Amino acid sequence: MKLVVTGGAGFIGSHLTDRLLNEGHHVTVMDNLLTGNIKNIARHMSNTRFQFLHHDVSNHIHIVGDVDWVIHFASPASPVDYLQLSIETLKVNSLGTHNTLGLARVKGAKYFLASTSEVYGDPEVHPQVETYWGNVNPIGPRGVYDESKRFAEAITMAYHHKHDLDTRIIRIFNCYGPRLRLDDGRVVSNFIGQALTNEPITMYGDGTQTRSFQYVSDLVEGIVRLMGVKHHEPVNLGNPQEKTVMELAQIIKELTGSKSEIRNKPLPVDDPKRRLPDISKAKRLLDWTPKKDLIEGLTETISWYREELKGLSQEKQAASSLP
Ligand code: UDP
Repeated sequence: MKLVVTGGAGFIGSHLTDRLLNEGHHVTVMDNLLTGNIKNIARHMSNTRFQFLHHDVSNHIHIVGDVDWVIHFASPASPVDYLQLSIETLKVNSLGTHNTLGLARVKGAKYFLASTSEVYGDPEVHPQVETYWGNVNPIGPRGVYDESKRFAEAITMAYHHKHDLDTRIIRIFNCYGPRLRLDDGRVVSNFIGQALTNEPITMYGDGTQTRSFQYVSDLVEGIVRLMGVKHHEPVNLGNPQEKTVMELAQIIKELTGSKSEIRNKPLPVDDPKRRLPDISKAKRLLDWTPKKDLIEGLTETISWYREELKGLSQEKQAASSLP
């Protein structure tokens, strides 16, 4: 098949691209590299089934030739990124979703939208089931992401109903693994980076808020399975193993053998207190459950960050030895 993956140079998009190319498909990655990194896809540049287009999907998209799937993963996804890139985030999830839907329609392609557990906002229902409508503050700092993803879901459903587009929507819960940018500000990357450099671990609030962390390969498996099932309403993909942020910090400290102290910082505005996916729909529909144990996943992620940090310090050394 011929697939267009927007945001394919990002964390999740690049893992999905690896998988699709491994399965023998043709992949065009479209990315403006605002939060993505060309390093994530560099290994594919000489593959004749791979193409990279440096383009912002918030602007009109033009693709030559047939397309079987348009997979829309482009968007800043870390709270730190989308606070800083507020307008870009609103645009990519509204105009970008409109443009990618238009591309799918003109090509007669199927469409896959990466939505988010943030559509539930700071939920008042636990675990979060797809039929829950959420508790979102539209004008709070997270509104730029939450509301634009809600719009993205709405327009995707409208294209399905009005134009009979064959669509899929997933709601992704916290995901981690190699290639999650060291400086992207999310909890797993921050804590591991801080632990490995013995810097203070920045605990927002008292750390009693919870998240449920899924490893990126589990998510990719869920995505591929959903592509094979005709189901148009949103499907949660996440790991139902709930941890407090304090527990996560302690696990990471232990796994890294770090001497970092835990330093409290203010809790960001509208930070969800509890996040826990109900994945019964994905289990039933896709026969999918996350396989990777948190300790195993974090251990692999930590090894990757160790290499990243080594590379960064070598780059710094090389730069400082320049005349
Ligand atoms: N968090 C933290 N320290 C950090 C980064 C994040 O305590 O250095 C907390 C954050 O307040 C939230 C949780 O960890 O409660 C997860 O944050 P993240 O930015 O990864 O994404 P979110 O799940 O909020 O979208």
